[in-house]
Amino acid sequence: MSVNTGYEEERKLWLWLGEHLIDKRDTARFEDYKSAVRSALFNEAERLVAKAGQKVPPVNPEIVAKERKVIEIERVPLETDALIVPCRNGFMMKINNKLPLVRQRFACAHEIGHTYFFDIAKNPPEKPYQHSTARYGLEEGLCYDIGRRILMPSWMMREWMENAEPPYIKVFKDMMFSFLVSGELLSYRIQDFGTWDVLMLIFESSGGAILLYKVLKSGDRMGNVDVARRGLKVTDPVLHAMLSRAFRGELVQEENVKLRIGNLEREIAHFGASYIGSYPPRVVAILVL
Ligand SMILES: [Zn+2]
Repeated sequence: MSVNTGYEEERKLWLWLGEHLIDKRDTARFEDYKSAVRSALFNEAERLVAKAGQKVPPVNPEIVAKERKVIEIERVPLETDALIVPCRNGFMMKINNKLPLVRQRFACAHEIGHTYFFDIAKNPPEKPYQHSTARYGLEEGLCYDIGRRILMPSWMMREWMENAEPPYIKVFKDMMFSFLVSGELLSYRIQDFGTWDVLMLIFESSGGAILLYKVLKSGDRMGNVDVARRGLKVTDPVLHAMLSRAFRGELVQEENVKLRIGNLEREIAHFGASYIGSYPPRVVAILVL
């Protein structure tokens, strides 16, 4: 498939989504049109949570799913995390029963995202377009975003986010448990929010070494901060010692520590780290520069 065809197919999908979601039909500046559709889709997903009567965390995605015509949810052994199948009067959802609970919850929320890519006025719901790799990639990406917003709507997160103070790590952990989400998922939402000026580094432990797994930045001041790539081994003894404590289950909070990781070498005003579980075991470190 040529690049152009992929672009055209993506464009058609954006136009179809826009028809259902926004009034504005100005597509001359297509990037603006796309962001308008994207925001409308995310707002719609967040409204859905309120409509389903979910007022406080943890959101129950199975109740939210009903608002999108998911009439039955089955937990079964699956090769994949979850899937939806259109059926008479809506959708059947299947969730892999071997997944840990937190991941089942996200799989369910992610599948709710897929319902937005069907015409649910039809019975059974129908895809408005043929399957293609370009559209599938775009749809998947948006479903991850929608899934995160269903489990952590902005209106539910706001109070936590606003009342938190550096080094943030305790609030981070409280939110993880209250919202019943993985630390990685929460990090992405904190990045969306952008109200904390922080670097969020996720580390893995492998064969005695501590490796950088992911770098997420939140806030305006982090734009130019260059850290390191995934897989980088932690060699700085100070950082290694703090992360080891976190891997052992300690909530680590330090002030004015000088440390080095990849291209970042400086004094960190606030450093917080906590074990966040998952497999392989992970630790999140929140750095306020
Ligand atoms: Zn998917």
